[in-house]
Amino acid sequence: MTIFKGKGVYGAVAIGKISVFKRRDTTVKRIHVSDTAAEKKRLEAAKEAATAQLQEIYDKALKEVGEQNAQIFEIHMMMIEDDDYNESIESIIDTQSVNAEYAVSVTADNFSEMFASMDDAYMQARSADVKDISNRIIACLSDDGSQENSDEKVIICADDLAPSETVLLDKNKVLAFVTSHGSSNSHTAILARNMNIPAVIGAGDDFLSAVSDGMFAAVDGYTGEVFLSPDTEALEKLETKQKEDEEKKRLLQELKGKENVTLDGTRINIFANIGGVDHIGAVLANDAGGIGLFRSEFLYLESSDYPTEEQQFAAYKKVLESMAGKKVIIRTLDIGADKKVDYFDLAKEDNPALGFRAIRICLTRPEIFRTQLRALYRASAFGKLGIMFPMITSVSEVEQIKKICAEVREELRADGVDFDENAELGIMIETPAAAVISDKLAPLVDFFSVGTNDLTQYTLACDRQNSAVEQFVDTHHEAILRLIEMSAKNAHANGAWIGICGELAADTSLTETFLRMGIDELSVSPSFVLKVRDAVRHTDLS
Ligand code: PEP
Ligand code: MG
Repeated sequence: MTIFKGKGVYGAVAIGKISVFKRRDTTVKRIHVSDTAAEKKRLEAAKEAATAQLQEIYDKALKEVGEQNAQIFEIHMMMIEDDDYNESIESIIDTQSVNAEYAVSVTADNFSEMFASMDDAYMQARSADVKDISNRIIACLSDDGSQENSDEKVIICADDLAPSETVLLDKNKVLAFVTSHGSSNSHTAILARNMNIPAVIGAGDDFLSAVSDGMFAAVDGYTGEVFLSPDTEALEKLETKQKEDEEKKRLLQELKGKENVTLDGTRINIFANIGGVDHIGAVLANDAGGIGLFRSEFLYLESSDYPTEEQQFAAYKKVLESMAGKKVIIRTLDIGADKKVDYFDLAKEDNPALGFRAIRICLTRPEIFRTQLRALYRASAFGKLGIMFPMITSVSEVEQIKKICAEVREELRADGVDFDENAELGIMIETPAAAVISDKLAPLVDFFSVGTNDLTQYTLACDRQNSAVEQFVDTHHEAILRLIEMSAKNAHANGAWIGICGELAADTSLTETFLRMGIDELSVSPSFVLKVRDAVRHTDLS
């Protein structure tokens, strides 16, 4: 038995086999081949595999987002069969005696350029599609199939996982995550919590070389310990812990339907954070009073091109309808920093956390912002929506945002489209600048929501992605608590309400502090809702 120790970011125990995460190498090399017939056979097999994947995605999309949104995958399947496309690939293999990956990649570049230069907007949009199907075929060409083919749930081990990689993992096949690097406030850690998956990060440089596919292991998300080939004694202890854990969670279930009220009668909202439509089940199962943060950027991360207004509308509408009139706060796109999306073509930055992200992108590329706002407002007719804007640092940003929102509403009115005129507008308080000028910002909005993850990194000057500075991160630092308190006072003095949606909201050692500050809402990962309710119900402010 070998034990590695990292930091547990979601408390639960997992026992099972390891699967080492295989990152796909997306660079395509030109390789000389002598047997071109064999190469074309490989190509045919990869195309068949790609079509089978698309059929599966199409069926899933058809059920989840409807025929109109699923259609794109049907188009992709047809494109794989396109004669011109296939002739081009085969002719490159034959005439240049090169590998299929290279031939597909060159064809993709040529065809996508050709589509992009056409006058017709529909054909232009096919440019991204041809790249997408080609990447899929290339991935199938280089795939040994080991990762996806098993139905067994596994412990995923990786050096680190990007949010875009985490979000694409099939949650039903993941028992736990263990990474050599990473930090506890990274979006990957947050996603693990949102998905209720035990996770350990920062298991160390040597961790990956000690594990292999199929190895038996146990992960303790409470202590951050990872046991490779655990002995009988360790295994028994962990199995007992797992049972106790399940019992504790079962007891918390008894708090379902109970109020979030302190012993002296102070009430607070306890809402849930989600990253996608498929997290709603957990929100409802844990009896959250609403959704305090829907990180809409995950819709963009899951997609291979800008999600259209229709696709976004379908997702937002579904969330609002599923919550049946309970409040849903959807945050506009917070892309950038660690949340990278290839099709945004963002330049590489030396300091991405201090760079071109979130509202800065939206205000610079208003066409993306307007598409999202139109989808959001249209969805507002189907429930109780609040729209929230990330990474605010100034009054002028909020004024620009409000102007764009007013224009979008005017457009919808002119088009005779139904929407909620009273949908609330709020901002995240996640930069020290926003907290310090919260007296000026509060009169402009309906609510504040404190993003303690970013507020901590910017206040303490500790990159939330950098595990080397994690030892300097004091999440209870007085500076952070003072900024939250100041924002709460200024919100209330101006008739706005204030919530906390960063990870600190689930830290029950601060529940009383937050209640004393007058925080109106705590929004946490779905699995923490009942734990926070329990803490509130044991607090006495009298
Ligand atoms: C935060 O910064 O606290 C927050 C809630 O937003 P994110 O973690 O997505 O940056
Ligand atoms: Mg943030």
